[in-house]
This record gives sequence, structure tokens and C-alpha cells, in this order.
Amino acid sequence: VTSPERTPPARTWWCRWAWLGGPEVTAGVLVETAAGRFSRVSVGVDAPPEGAVVLEGLTLPGLANAHSHVFHRGLRARTQVGPGSFWTWRDQMYQLANRLDPDSLYELARATFAEMVLAGITTVGEFHYLHHQPGGEPYDDPNAMGAAVIAGAESAGIRLTLIDACYLTGGIGRPLEPAQRRFGDLDASRWAERVSALADGNVERDSAGGRGMVRVAAAIHSVRAVPPRAMEVVGSWAQSRGVPLHLHLSEQPKENHDCRAAYGRSPTHLVYEHGLLGERTVAVHATHLSDDDIDTLGRTRTGVCMCPTTERDLADGIGPALGLSRAGSPLSVGSDSNAVIDLFEEARAIELDERLASGVRGGHQVEDLLGAATTGGAHALGWTDGGVIREGALADLVTLRLDTVRLAGTSAGALVAAAVFAAGAGDVDHVVIGGRPIVSGGRHLLVGDVPETLRSAISVAWARPAPAAATVP
Ligand SMILES: [Zn+2]
Repeated sequence: VTSPERTPPARTWWCRWAWLGGPEVTAGVLVETAAGRFSRVSVGVDAPPEGAVVLEGLTLPGLANAHSHVFHRGLRARTQVGPGSFWTWRDQMYQLANRLDPDSLYELARATFAEMVLAGITTVGEFHYLHHQPGGEPYDDPNAMGAAVIAGAESAGIRLTLIDACYLTGGIGRPLEPAQRRFGDLDASRWAERVSALADGNVERDSAGGRGMVRVAAAIHSVRAVPPRAMEVVGSWAQSRGVPLHLHLSEQPKENHDCRAAYGRSPTHLVYEHGLLGERTVAVHATHLSDDDIDTLGRTRTGVCMCPTTERDLADGIGPALGLSRAGSPLSVGSDSNAVIDLFEEARAIELDERLASGVRGGHQVEDLLGAATTGGAHALGWTDGGVIREGALADLVTLRLDTVRLAGTSAGALVAAAVFAAGAGDVDHVVIGGRPIVSGGRHLLVGDVPETLRSAISVAWARPAPAAATVP
């Protein structure tokens, strides 16, 4: 008897140590999967049964990267030196944004998502605003760029929420700048029409995992880029489909200043008054907030995605993660600009950056920090049955070697702390996504030579000259 080819066979993994939640790990955990989910999780299994794949080291639920702009990977080390601010960095970013076409975006997405999987990321939220041709004209398929991101994710074996961002203005009350034209849909109803077609074409799309690995969600780029009435259209679209709504919020003091000048209220209050906060909304960055903003985000249970390595790089500031968490906002983390792809670093930075700002240690529980990188991210991306090793949940696992220079010598009682405060992406040894092994022994089984794939994709992306339409002042 053979099962249909697209349904992965039932598999069994035995984990010497696994994190099932809480401050401690569990020894001897047997995990069985079928049809992309955990069909059974047994604890206290002293030795691997015959036929089980043995996972030495520490096994965690798959990590979820709640905020990525995949093409920014091509900027790594090109935009990190020299003077400037977020705004000068953004001009450099636009130079790459306007060189990409669906083919080169596909290559860059495939390579970058493969790097993410090697780092233990099994689910990614791609905040996608690179929609049209550089002058703003749609491609023949208006979703050609989104389709390229989806194809890149499928090729790299990663679970994807494509968060399509509405982007209409080049600042409050200002037209798009030439370099921003390809982001724009002219108005929110045209955005909704385009994204509806994308979502309808990808509902629970089948994959080699036998389960839908792609979902489409919505974003308001920011209060800078979307006027209030258009925000409501995007919010209703997300609401009617029951999918997450993301937005960049108060990343920069200038955004707060411009928002107050135009609307007489903070970005948080503006979006709150337009009915956009709630459990399915995720505010990305949320760096420059008043106490009242924190209370509003927490009271509405709005999620907050912190991106500390990007916030450091862009001199954005340190967000009030502890205050937000205490007020009721679930936290997640994102690699955002992809200058660094390491969710262990993002998770510990939530705590460590706040220590620098507050002079106080240990506000966050270690299991909450690991939770932000797993369950928190999965929920933020609409995979509410992900980010946890439990019967019925999505079968995503990541195993860290414990015999590396960073982790050797860790006692069993300190393994959760070691994962958060000492581990690095390079310690990831084995990754399972939707019940399929994607990384084994540190090797990506689908893409193979990931460094060479990255090198090639980045050189192709920069090889094309920026089109004139994008550089005319
Ligand atoms: Zn972002």
C-alpha cells in the first residue's frame, strides 16, 4: 500500500531534550507526525525506539520570524557603515528595490528563506510592498512580485504568510516619490482587488507538505503611507477574511511628529480610533510610545513585533517591550532588514536592550522570550496552531546542537536560558517543517549550497541598472 505522493509519511523523532513550554526542558520526548502535524507527543521515553530519527541536542518548536523584507538581504554590509539615519538608509534601500524584477526577487527570496531555515526559522511573515514595475505600472500579472516571493518560499521549504502592504503616499498628504512608485496601488480599493486575487489563488494551497504552507495577510505600511480612510478599507479586508493585519508603528519620532501635526494624535491613537487595533493586529517596532499608547495597545491585545537588530542598525531606539507585555500585548520578533538573521539574537535583545535603557535586569521571563520567537510569531502570522510541540499542532521542529563552542557545558536545568542567552543561528542542526525534514546535519536538503545561492542571487540583483523612472528626482 502506498500513500499518495503528496502526503508525507508518518515519521517518528526521538528528542534527547525538548522544550514543551515553561522554564525547563523535558528529557526523552518522542514526537510522531502525520499529514504535517504532530499526531502524538510522548514524554519520559528513555531511549529511541527502532526506526525513530534521533535528535541529540535541544529540540524547540520551529521559530517564527514575524517581520521580514526579504530583498533587504541584498543590502547586508552595504548600508551599515557611514553616517546618517533611518532616512538616509532608506534612500540606499530604494536603490536596490528599484532594480528587482520577479526573476531576481525569486532568486533572492529563495536564497534568503533558505538562510532563514538554516537558522531554525520555519515560518516567516514577509511584509511585501514591492508590487509593481519601477514606474508604478502593474506587471501583466499584477501579483507577479508576490508570486515570486511565494515561489521562493516554496522552493526553500519555509512556511509563509505573505503580508501584502498597502502603500499609497510618500508621507502624510504627499504623493509617492519616484522611487516609491512601484509600491503604490493608487487607491485602497485597487489594493484590495489585487490582494483578493492573490489570496484566492493561495488559500490553503497544497504543497509537498500536504497542507497549505502559504497564507496571505494584510498590512498598512504605516500612517505615513496610508490615509485613514484607506486604512479602514485594508482593515475591513483583513477582518472579513479573518487574517492578520500588520503595520509599522512609531518606528521614528518624525512619524509621531508628522502624525500629530496632521491629525492631532499619535499613530497609535489614530489607528485605534479607526478601529484597527485588536488581537489580530500586529504593530511592528512600536518604539516611540507614550504611556497612553502602551495602555491602548495592551488593552486591545494588539500584538507587537520587536526587531531589535534592525532597530539598532537604523538608530531607531529601544521599544518598551516590558511595558507592552505587562499591558497585555503578546510579543513576537522579526529579522526585518535581514542584516542579521538570528532569532535567538532578536529574542535576547528584547531583554538585553531594555537592561541598557532601564538599568534593571531580568524583567522578562526566559520562557517568554523563547515564546516570542516561537508561539508569539506563529500567532502573529495567523498560524494559531503553530510554534508549540503538542498533539495536533503544526509539525515544525528545530534542533540545536549542544556540543558547539557556544553551548557546550550547559547543564540540563539551564538549557532554556542557554537557548535564549547563548545560542546562535549557527547552532541549528536539524529542521522539520510540516513534518518534512528540511535541514539535516546543518545542510539544507532542498537548496543545497545556500552561501553560493545567496552570492549568486545578490550579484544578479545588483547587476541590473536602476531604471530611470525610479531615479528622476
Ligand atoms: Zn519593516
